[in-house]
Amino acid sequence: MTPVIDFHLHAGLYHELHPWVMDWISETIEDPVAYVSNILTPEGIVRFLRENGVDYAVALAELSPITTGMLSNEGVAELCRGIDCLIPFCSVNPFLVADLAGELEHYVTQMGFRGLKLYPTYHHFYANSNRIYPLYAKAQELGIPVMVHTGSSIFRGARLKYGDPLTMDDVAVDFPDLTLLLVHSGRGFWYDRAYFLAKLHANVYMEISGLPPQKLLDYFPELERVADKVIFGSDWPGMPHVGRNIEIIRGLPLSDETKDKILGGNAARILGL
Ligand SMILES: [Zn+2]
Repeated sequence: MTPVIDFHLHAGLYHELHPWVMDWISETIEDPVAYVSNILTPEGIVRFLRENGVDYAVALAELSPITTGMLSNEGVAELCRGIDCLIPFCSVNPFLVADLAGELEHYVTQMGFRGLKLYPTYHHFYANSNRIYPLYAKAQELGIPVMVHTGSSIFRGARLKYGDPLTMDDVAVDFPDLTLLLVHSGRGFWYDRAYFLAKLHANVYMEISGLPPQKLLDYFPELERVADKVIFGSDWPGMPHVGRNIEIIRGLPLSDETKDKILGGNAARILGL
């Protein structure tokens, strides 16, 4: 059986986030702090994933002080310790530390992180800028995947120009052995670019978190052609209905093989599960 993997779970205490993020989450969840803290315990998260039909989930840290808030690497490492179904991904903010590569190496070799997520629209950098290149070089050397937010962000202070997936063309060419995930697949403006890059580059994947799953084939009419390159993620807790989204994908007019790959097969390969 192919495992079901949610590649995009924000794992932290949301009272650390800015009020406008809390307001947004409150639109779908009545009492977000209680909701999130109930689930983000060792027993709570295991139960939540099981109830939603998820075998593994990637737990994301986020150091975005000017836009969303801080979900510390230490907190995510702590949450994931001893929980086999959680896979921790660290956050490195290029404006908060000097030695980006050293920081990443520390998180991976000393703290057990198994991937990196970058937030260009929240931190205000182009993903193909020189400043970020040492991070890619280190990630390639360590053999870990890198997720990069592409497409729209609704939070105050985000700058959408940094979300153009085309910036990742340089990175894909310069780091051919580095696995790159285009998070949100260029949401809003650039679905065509994300799709084309995933089709063109062996090391580029489309991650579909935060997209309404029933619209997937409207956004990507030829999704089946990149069946090996599409990765499911929920964007929990902002998108709380993980199990329902999985069911919607299961109901799309795609082959069962493609659905299995999207819902976990491709991710299992990337994560070495
Ligand atoms: Zn997210």
